[in-house]
Amino acid sequence: MAQSIPAKSTGAELISRDPVSGEEIGRAPIVMPEDVARAVGRAREAQSEWAILTFRERGRLIMKARKIILGELEEIASLISRETGKPVSEAVAMELATTLDLMQYFARKTASLLRPRRVSVGLYWSMGRSSYEIYKPLGVVGIISPWNFPWATPLDEVVMALMAGNAVVLKPSELTPLTGLKIKDVFDRAGLADGLLQVVTGDGSTGAALVGSGVDKIMFIGSVATGKRVAEAAASYLTPVVLELGGKDPMIVLDDANVKNAARGAVWGAFANSGQACASVERCYVHESIADQFIKEVVAETKSLRQANLGSEPGAVADPAEESIDIGSMTSEHQLRTVERHVHEATTRGAIALTGGERVGPGFKPTVLTNVNHEMDVMREETFGPVLPIMTFKTDDDAVHLANDSVYGLAASVWTSNLSRGKRIAERIDAGTVMINEALYTHGIAQTPWGGVKQSGFGRTHGRAGLLELVNPQHIHVNHLWFIPDLWWFNYTPPAGQLFRGFARRFASGSILQASLLLPQMIRRWLERRD
Ligand code: NAD
Repeated sequence: MAQSIPAKSTGAELISRDPVSGEEIGRAPIVMPEDVARAVGRAREAQSEWAILTFRERGRLIMKARKIILGELEEIASLISRETGKPVSEAVAMELATTLDLMQYFARKTASLLRPRRVSVGLYWSMGRSSYEIYKPLGVVGIISPWNFPWATPLDEVVMALMAGNAVVLKPSELTPLTGLKIKDVFDRAGLADGLLQVVTGDGSTGAALVGSGVDKIMFIGSVATGKRVAEAAASYLTPVVLELGGKDPMIVLDDANVKNAARGAVWGAFANSGQACASVERCYVHESIADQFIKEVVAETKSLRQANLGSEPGAVADPAEESIDIGSMTSEHQLRTVERHVHEATTRGAIALTGGERVGPGFKPTVLTNVNHEMDVMREETFGPVLPIMTFKTDDDAVHLANDSVYGLAASVWTSNLSRGKRIAERIDAGTVMINEALYTHGIAQTPWGGVKQSGFGRTHGRAGLLELVNPQHIHVNHLWFIPDLWWFNYTPPAGQLFRGFARRFASGSILQASLLLPQMIRRWLERRD
């Protein structure tokens, strides 16, 4: 009998278990709604002091936390690996290296990214007007995060929200509560003031309580189904939300691609983190002229992967901590079942598994499928597992059409040796990010925006766009001619009416020449209103 991954909740508390061995790693409380509300209250109190600090002062604290993380790199990587079943080296590469980079970037650059900005007022400058924009913290930001990158996903948001001057209440996934608590532990030891970052562990009910707690924004990262529930609940409080949801990312391999490299990229993009990444390659479209060679390379590369010895008997031990392991286990039984269902449905309807196709203990063997079509769940729903279904196409238009034939739009990739052609195709794909000759990894770049279109959500994380989600832009408008009444104020008279028509015809044209023709009428109006 296949070993199954144990469930994690007992009702009153979460038991964090290693999905590979089933061993208990630790426990965390299921925080009750009234305690979530209390946490938000404490966060609000702490935020006002934090908001008056300079960016440099906030940055210093982030860098202290960063130093602690660097000193405990191995321990943290091991905790992530134990809670998720992913290889330790992958935790270091995809979660720790990326967040350490993001921390130094936002610690140093937030001041310039959020520097007050002059805003053009068009021809209103000729009336002595000017404008600028400043960026004020929102207050308390609620972050609800998933289990697949339990360290990087919430920590990135925590760092950006804090740098922007907010307090944070974080609800980590019920599958990875200890990694969530470790984030708090690091910031506590770095000296972050009490209450500024709180971690409320728990399940969906704790998340729902956070949505209804009066926070100033919810950054939700998770599935489409939960995202819809969060958006619906947030709407009733008019709490703004950013939704970073699932994907079904297409990869297009053009006839002029470097086949070997594209094949290696496909295998990493589809199977890293056992395919449990929002931006995993979930559909591959290869030009028919190179399909045989590409598929051969993909299968050979896949067969060379070393999966942890997960065994198929209860109690079998594996060691994702070993450096030479490429693939670990899946994180939850629920996710494993989805993967099994998709592969089974596809093969029953004619798909061919060239390698893999079955679970191995708490893991799933990296699987390459051909003979698939868009009627199958494996090409339509998010699989979130190590499955790479491959189809062929004839023309660039076909490829774009197939890529866009999805309710999702998170990320995509185009593989070609002709970069202009790649860019032309990339710009026609409905996705928040399209990579050319790359897959999956740009979530790890702090400077570039991340987010989706269609059912993959809305709003952005990372980059300046992500930072702007965590502040209120405030527009300050100045009338330098404070001693002159505006020409459009009361009373309306026939000369005023004439001037307003002139505004409509000439001023609104945007042309300074046209607007200057209004000068006599403006002077008449001004004289008319002189006391
Ligand atoms: P999930 O939707 O089941 O859970 C996400 C979080 O929401 C968890 O913390 C959960 O406890 C909480 N939650 C559950 N019910 C809730 C409710 N009613 N109100 C508020 N919170 C509630 O998702 P998951 O299985 O943990 O994560 C996998 C999904 O996350 C995949 O679809 C993946 O694509 C997506 N994801 C997206 C991104 C992105 O950047 N777009 C990044 C990582 C993961």
